[in-house]
Amino acid sequence: MVLMTAIIRLSTQTEQQRHENSRLQSQIATLQGEIDKTEQNALLETAQKDGQRSKAVSYLADIQSKLKRINEYMSKRGLRNISFRKLNIDEKPKSETKLYADFNNYLDRLVTTIAYTPMGYPRLSSFTSFFGSRGNPFDFGGSEFHPGIDFSGHKGDPVKCTASGRVIFAGRAGGYGNCVKIRHNNNIETWYGHLSKINVKEGQRVDVGQLIGKVGSTGRSTGPHLHYEIRKNGQPVNPKQYLSLNL
Ligand SMILES: [Zn+2]
Repeated sequence: MVLMTAIIRLSTQTEQQRHENSRLQSQIATLQGEIDKTEQNALLETAQKDGQRSKAVSYLADIQSKLKRINEYMSKRGLRNISFRKLNIDEKPKSETKLYADFNNYLDRLVTTIAYTPMGYPRLSSFTSFFGSRGNPFDFGGSEFHPGIDFSGHKGDPVKCTASGRVIFAGRAGGYGNCVKIRHNNNIETWYGHLSKINVKEGQRVDVGQLIGKVGSTGRSTGPHLHYEIRKNGQPVNPKQYLSLNL
């Protein structure tokens, strides 16, 4: 009965209706094709995004391991590690922006720490005396403890601070002659002795690499040179470990 009704209804369709019907059908078919294409493209895009995401994740893992190495280098210098919450980059983070922000904050702290950590040379020249026990230059045959490294130089050569910080002393200091003392992070100080000229004032903030004075031979000195000393918690430490990153 249902079939019969359908046949009757079909046979009563006018030519125009049939035409309209097939037009609609072909439109639907085209649309269906479009949707399939769109779906495919969406799938491809997702796959591509996933590919890029896994790349991004591997870069982040790389960055994290490098940050850990920098931390190790700093801890070898007796510096406090910069603690950073373990960034869970294997799991899908709630927000990638948050993840990048965490890394960015960490790098900011790292940059500050590096700026305030003595590193490298206060002047580029050869050493004339190392840290530790040495023959007393004033008393032939005797020995003394040398608390820093001496750099060769001529009177007037520039002396630059090896880290950012605050000048805690600028003036005459007994055997050190004209001396500049700068306090940095982690209870670390750098001292620059025998200067012929002092270019900074007590209390002044200085940036890494800033000119703080000139090489001289003031105080207990046998000739123009720079005495460079690093003190941690009030005790002199071997500046050698602060001269390069590879030790
Ligand atoms: Zn010295």
